[in-house]
Amino acid sequence: MRTYRIVVLPGDGIGPEVMREALKVLNGALPGPNGPRVERSEHPLGAAYYQQTGEILPQELIEECRKSDAVLLSAIGLPDVRLPDGTEVQPHQVVGLRKAMDLYAAVRPIKLYSGVPSVLADVGPGIDFIVLRENTEGLFASFGGGSAAHDQAVADTMLITRKGTERIVEFAFRLAKRRHGRPLDGRRMVTCVDKANVFRSLAFFRKVFYEVAARQADISAEACYVDAMSLYMVQAPWKYDVLVMENMFGDILSDLGAGLVGGLGLGPSAEIGDHNALFQPSHGSAPQIAGLNVANPLATILSVSMMLDWLGERNEDADAIMAARRIESAVAEILQTGKVLTPDLGGKNTTAQLGDAILKIIESG
Ligand code: NAD
Repeated sequence: MRTYRIVVLPGDGIGPEVMREALKVLNGALPGPNGPRVERSEHPLGAAYYQQTGEILPQELIEECRKSDAVLLSAIGLPDVRLPDGTEVQPHQVVGLRKAMDLYAAVRPIKLYSGVPSVLADVGPGIDFIVLRENTEGLFASFGGGSAAHDQAVADTMLITRKGTERIVEFAFRLAKRRHGRPLDGRRMVTCVDKANVFRSLAFFRKVFYEVAARQADISAEACYVDAMSLYMVQAPWKYDVLVMENMFGDILSDLGAGLVGGLGLGPSAEIGDHNALFQPSHGSAPQIAGLNVANPLATILSVSMMLDWLGERNEDADAIMAARRIESAVAEILQTGKVLTPDLGGKNTTAQLGDAILKIIESG
């Protein structure tokens, strides 16, 4: 029997509430006695942890994450908890984990589930694409560094390397191979999103993109400037399958994408490296609604589904892949019927009621 070791980081604000539901669903989705099991170790990372201990990201936790099969994080950060330089403690923890595990591929699915109203009047044949964000370099490479000149000027540097670009673009094509193409006509395609008309760094990103694309069969490749892409994502999102881009562009466009398909409460994510992976909702700790039992747990539950899918693919474990599908189809069913929803989706139910409803569908399936 296979056992996966999962590090669980419930975090701050609504983090522990949505994590509780996600773990409930994870337990319920794993198949009977001969299927995979999950061994969890839980740790208090976040802004409150920093307040209590003065520690940002303990080395022992990094080691435990590195040794794990996967890390499941809900949301961390509290806007008032800051380091002496004025920045929040949260990015130091999240970016610290990314760097420590070299999680270079951030996969953000932008999918409009049936029954969920979009802010767009016309959703054409549907919305289902991936924002694939390079997660370790780009403008975030200088995080915690940069340069300052006597309180008069500050600079952050965009770093694009051949190795970093090749591996994220190769990841994009592998991802496209596993998908069913764009909603418009099922064509599999990868779109490079850049600003190659202005910056040498991003002209290089595009050049390397086309070098990798030339080695791919059966998958179309195209490139688009990021400003135009923010227009096309709103005008005709059904024309896209996998969008690959530099770190900062991915940070911004993934939130725009989430806004098209029901908001951050429905935005899961996977951050993947060659040896480790971390799964978390795209949203933050939403301190305004913490403790009220109204937070939407679906982004975290869908992140659990992505985690099982990744574990299943990596370990050739059909049971884990099946469990991932069970979770996603239960979420799809809940959204389609619209009977049990949290207030952000127009419902009146609690976080726990939504988690219970998903679990019930899985158990009866
Ligand atoms: P946020 O995502 O916490 O909230 C943005 C808006 O979305 C708020 O109106 C909030 O109430 C709502 N919202 C978010 N998640 C929701 C959910 N599951 N259900 C219902 N409504 C939800 O972003 P913010 O307010 O900019 O940041 C709050 C804190 O979270 C900050 O400390 C920030 O640093 C941190 N943060 C952490 C992460 C992370 O853990 N990776 C990501 C983003 C922000």
